[in-house]
Amino acid sequence: MLDALKDISRETLRQLVDEIQSPEVVDYSPRDGGVCPVCSSKKCRITASGPWIGSARERFHKCRGCGLRFKSVETA
Ligand SMILES: [Zn+2]
Repeated sequence: MLDALKDISRETLRQLVDEIQSPEVVDYSPRDGGVCPVCSSKKCRITASGPWIGSARERFHKCRGCGLRFKSVETA
């Protein structure tokens, strides 16, 4: 595992960690998409979306208003 990570730059790694450890989690709205918890922007850009796991699906967003990265959870 460490061998595979050897070639990844520190910067890339930090971005990945940011992506994974988004502290803010909001509910995903079918109508408004990911709504920013800070500035209430709707339909924030999706940077990554996960598969359905059981009845929940996670998406990662970056707000175009304030730049916040956050995660939304959609439940079926
Ligand atoms: Zn925002």
